[in-house]
Amino acid sequence: MLPAVPKPLVHMLAQRYIAGPTLEDACRVVKTANAEHKLGTIDVLGEEIRTRDEARAIAGAYRDVFETIERQGLDSNVSVKLTGLGLKLDYDLCRENLESVVREAARRNNFVRIDMEDSSTTDDTLRLYRDLREAGHENLGVVLQAYLRRTLDDIRSLGDLRPSVRICKGIYVEPPELAYQGYGEVRSNFIRALEALLDADCYVGIATHDEWLVSEGRRIVARRGLGRDEYEFQMLYGIAEARGNRLVREGHRLRIYVPFGEHWYAYSLRRLQENPKIAGYIAADTLGRLVPRRNGSA
Ligand SMILES: Cc1cc2nc3c(=O)[nH]c(=O)nc-3n(C[C@H](O)[C@H](O)[C@H](O)COP(=O)(O)OP(=O)(O)OC[C@H]3O[C@@H](n4cnc5c(N)ncnc54)[C@H](O)[C@@H]3O)c2cc1C
Repeated sequence: MLPAVPKPLVHMLAQRYIAGPTLEDACRVVKTANAEHKLGTIDVLGEEIRTRDEARAIAGAYRDVFETIERQGLDSNVSVKLTGLGLKLDYDLCRENLESVVREAARRNNFVRIDMEDSSTTDDTLRLYRDLREAGHENLGVVLQAYLRRTLDDIRSLGDLRPSVRICKGIYVEPPELAYQGYGEVRSNFIRALEALLDADCYVGIATHDEWLVSEGRRIVARRGLGRDEYEFQMLYGIAEARGNRLVREGHRLRIYVPFGEHWYAYSLRRLQENPKIAGYIAADTLGRLVPRRNGSA
């Protein structure tokens, strides 16, 4: 039902998940997170772009992010979506844009993580990741999704690169041939993928708010005797803050994903889709509009 919900309502409900329209908004959120001993990863919202110029503008915005991170002394890297850099328009354009962002990151001793989008982009995303790593860019990481049946194979085929990987459940709607559909199945594959990545000596970002997975993640890194700087937990801005604070108190590294910008719609829909309370809010609002209120109908 979410796409039928009026945009202003989506905007209102999703405000807690987005820092705001400007880079300054994102920096303010990261500064607060840093003061609470959390790291940041800044995302310039932009997956809805349509033209080559818009894709170049997103790459330019990322280069500005690095300059600002350095000037403000923030502890943050960035996350990019390849569709925002033009993947659906032209692979080479996207490669050029991504490489410009990665070079700027390297110049400022920083790091870029490529988010993973829907399954129509998985092959190209992993191909581009490999291309740039083989071209000598070490400051680049990628994301794998536990719901995809292919993920363990992808871990095996990326093994020679010893990639830095964020493992998450995955949020796009995928068919059963490609993705596990059951809650338990996805959790089990998350754990299998996490173990396989650690076996392959990868740096892993354990990205989840799921209490059970957080506990399992904690148990696995403890059993392996990993030091604080050999893995990190990751959470999204606006979600499960108390759970994140607990991880920090226990001495784990926690990185907060902080999106900002004008292209907020698609990201907002995905967050609302996951919020367990959202059906209730929307039902109440929709009913409120369909059924005239007593006072007004007299
Ligand atoms: C740092 C980070 C980066 C990510 N990057 C990607 C990516 O590149 N590609 C991709 O496909 N997916 C990405 N995701 C999304 C991820 O795939 C999941 O869709 C998302 O994290 C929800 O799964 P979960 O593990 O938190 O478990 P869930 O079972 O969905 O959530 C566990 C609990 O967290 C709370 N919660 C979760 N979401 C919300 C919400 N929106 N509002 C309120 N409470 C909520 C609820 O209490 C819920 O019961 C990322 C997630 C994180 C944390």
